[in-house]
Amino acid sequence: MAVESGEPDLQFRDPEKAEQLTDRLEALMDDIGERVTIMHVCGSHEQAIAKYGLRSLLPDGLTIRMGPGCPVCVTDMPEVDEAVALAEEGKIVATYGDMLRVPGTEKSLDDAKADGADVRVVYSASEAAEIAEEEDEEVVFFATGFETTAAPTAAVLTAAPPENFSILSAHKYVPPAMEVVAELPDTDVDGFLAAGHAATITGYGLFEEFVEDYEVPTVVGGFEPIDILFGLAKLLEFIRDDEPGLANAYQRCVSEEGNVPAKETMWDVFETTTGEWRGIAQIPEANLVLREEYSQYDARGRFDIDVDTTSSNPLTEECLCGEIMAGKADPDDCALFGEECTPQDPVGACMVSSEGPCKIWLEYGGQPDI
Ligand code: SF4
Ligand code: SF4
Repeated sequence: MAVESGEPDLQFRDPEKAEQLTDRLEALMDDIGERVTIMHVCGSHEQAIAKYGLRSLLPDGLTIRMGPGCPVCVTDMPEVDEAVALAEEGKIVATYGDMLRVPGTEKSLDDAKADGADVRVVYSASEAAEIAEEEDEEVVFFATGFETTAAPTAAVLTAAPPENFSILSAHKYVPPAMEVVAELPDTDVDGFLAAGHAATITGYGLFEEFVEDYEVPTVVGGFEPIDILFGLAKLLEFIRDDEPGLANAYQRCVSEEGNVPAKETMWDVFETTTGEWRGIAQIPEANLVLREEYSQYDARGRFDIDVDTTSSNPLTEECLCGEIMAGKADPDDCALFGEECTPQDPVGACMVSSEGPCKIWLEYGGQPDI
């Protein structure tokens, strides 16, 4: 397996460089001579692609699809229900701002807050632990996100937070989800553009096994328009050469081994378990739960959390978030897109976060009609 590491000459928004790269994409697609589908697995990639209209620059036959790359979007509804139940029982629930409007089965955390629950927005796990230091009540941190946020959550738990602090883990681990998507029968992915942020923690070496096992070219890419076009060109080179290679196209931030101390802390505190990714599937070893040594901080062990997951909202049946996250549908395939479902009144989680594909497509447009 080829492993490459390199970046374009860094003038991130240089139109000349962009033109050279789009010409390169055109030439590579001519060489390949058939349709190619690339999947990215990062909300920030989708944001940049939509915001800068990159799909309008792609040659005919090259499609970029979204994968399970928005941590807010894949947080499962029963996990939101658990946070709502804890808030309604009188615990202080602290979480990232985007999580407040994610719909649970009947209520979001925002709804619980409107009904009088103490729900607070924090920017980090350590801020949630500081609240616990100041308050006498139980403080539960609703811990969501991928490796990029799981590592700092773990760091807080290793620093002996106050006794009235616990976490409700909805952290997820991306590589097993890529394996599931690569195996889905109706998701025809020729190459993956892997998330540069998460790889700063995990390192690009993490993808070697994936590339070997699934024989799908994978490139770790940055988030500027030139980064993305360069990452796509690397992928098309691998596809043209029929080579399931791995490349690091985000060398300025990502190393082969990643952030070793952060990774060690994360795996000291968390272990993987099988769990549901909202609307996609039960994914083996893709949810992060606390190890036995840290079980005193586990809200699920500390409290009796009782949730009813029977929905009375018929619209949730029509939500295509799962299909979108699995690369099988685009946001505008959903009948509710921009009508019954808007960022102000979201039906599904993909309409909530700035990393959510439905919100991004509503804001910037998605597939240009040219
Ligand atoms: S947390 Fe970072 S790497 Fe992960 S999806 Fe969001 S932007 Fe991408
Ligand atoms: S538009 Fe709304 S309902 Fe439709 S898939 Fe997106 S989040 Fe779900």
